[in-house]
Amino acid sequence: MMTRKEKREMEKGINDLFEFLKTSEHFFKDLNKLLKSVDDPRHLGYVTYDTAVLLMMVMLKNACNLKSMRMMTNEFNKDECIENLSTYLGIKDLEELPHYDTINNFLSRLKPEELENIRTYMIKELLKKRSFDSYRIGGKYWGMVIDGTGLFTFQEKHCEHCLRREHKYKDKETGEEKTKTLYMHHVLEAKLVVGDMVLSVESEFIENESEDVKKQDCELNAFYRLAARLKGTFKRLPICIMADSLYACENVVNQCKDNHWTYIFRFKKDRIKSIANEFQALKNMEDHVLKVNVDGQRGEITWVNDIVYRERKQNVLECEMETEEGKQTFTFLTDKKITKKNAQKLMNAGRSRWKIENEGFNRQKNLRYHIQHAGSQNYTAMKNHYVLTQITEIIMMLHEHGSKSLKRIKKTAKEISSRLLEAFRGQTLTDEDIAKLGKPMQMRFT
Ligand SMILES: [Zn+2]
Repeated sequence: MMTRKEKREMEKGINDLFEFLKTSEHFFKDLNKLLKSVDDPRHLGYVTYDTAVLLMMVMLKNACNLKSMRMMTNEFNKDECIENLSTYLGIKDLEELPHYDTINNFLSRLKPEELENIRTYMIKELLKKRSFDSYRIGGKYWGMVIDGTGLFTFQEKHCEHCLRREHKYKDKETGEEKTKTLYMHHVLEAKLVVGDMVLSVESEFIENESEDVKKQDCELNAFYRLAARLKGTFKRLPICIMADSLYACENVVNQCKDNHWTYIFRFKKDRIKSIANEFQALKNMEDHVLKVNVDGQRGEITWVNDIVYRERKQNVLECEMETEEGKQTFTFLTDKKITKKNAQKLMNAGRSRWKIENEGFNRQKNLRYHIQHAGSQNYTAMKNHYVLTQITEIIMMLHEHGSKSLKRIKKTAKEISSRLLEAFRGQTLTDEDIAKLGKPMQMRFT
């Protein structure tokens, strides 16, 4: 055990900004170059700032857990911040940091693909690392969680791409039944599961093409677009799609098969009745039972292989777990043949989908980043803000899970962010630090 004094001494010796940047450099040595070379859509006459400065400001705002762009401008208005950014990015004549209006103006013109390409570069770099191989499902497939969430809701029409939802309510005074239209933006994500980390790989916005569409866009439609992009970008990557029961349908199964992806979907009996009925009828006849113990919770897995549905055979796995809240049943549909040997692994993979809710969106909404707080009202800027959040999150996840010094001092996500802010505002990076950034380091993910 460390004494409190020893702990203080150790914490003093850590520059959190340096540690954060070191993680970034370790995994993504071309990131700065890429931030500097995004296709800049501004009028040349107005360009005062390097694009890397504009983008790094927003990334640091996210990493430091500042809720609004206004707070960013206020908090970063310190000589130390200017000096740190100028030292790190190697920009000598940086005298002021850009105001948030300048940044939002830039983000409203920047094509979101520019930032999406940077995220793709980052994910490809991570996939090359041997150290993550042990997280592949069955030693082969990368778990890819698909999930959607609501980002923004407006009382008034926000833009022509807004999703609309009629909301019925009773007028409190007259008792009259009234209808109000809400305007919303939703996003669908493909996130890579790497141990305890979930990292955004693709984001597809669920949006109407125009205001007068007959049928509104929906999650499944967005999935087909997302899947096409995912396949285009990661052509030969062995992927296991993990999604909720909405996806357990013929079209999605066909799409996965066409792309040579395997899948594990949560399954609810009303989704495909014939499969549910056959499973119920066969599960007691076939002797496929496995007793399991997961983190002290006892349970039982049963399964049935080769249930014919349309052109294909499906396999169903059900696990009943004794939890503190009583008995819980999870059912999954998969194309993987289930055996005694892989049943528990499949169950774990299926259940890990809930990470995206528990650690993914929840974390990004409530713990850090405030993704439901629009950084700008402009739709293109909103999308860019969103992708920048995902880029920041990738670095933060690696920073939190891999940094040895952070692990030793045991801090919560919020504390890590406020320490980073403190370091950015209070400590300055030296040329020596910069030289050290490029040096190899050891990172351990367990
Ligand atoms: Zn809108």
